[in-house]
Amino acid sequence: MPLADKLATASQKYISDLTTCKFASITSDQGLSKKDRDALAEVINLTNREDHRYIPHQTLADLLRSEGYDVSASAISRHRGGNCSCRRLGKIS
Ligand SMILES: [Zn+2]
Repeated sequence: MPLADKLATASQKYISDLTTCKFASITSDQGLSKKDRDALAEVINLTNREDHRYIPHQTLADLLRSEGYDVSASAISRHRGGNCSCRRLGKIS
């Protein structure tokens, strides 16, 4: 890979790490199929328990841990509550 591409990749990763929490970063895991990523992206931000697709934090954490991801229910709670690094998006100058 040319140096210019490596620099661009490193820069993108830096911004991504700053603006995406560990929980949300799973939705861009290229090791997952598009179907899995789309399904996760659909339930990740749901906070309305009335929504038929809603999955409680602990259940979602258990499910993801069984898939090999190191995610806690509190990380999901912080993401859904807007208290994670995802909310830094656009605040970097
Ligand atoms: Zn987040």
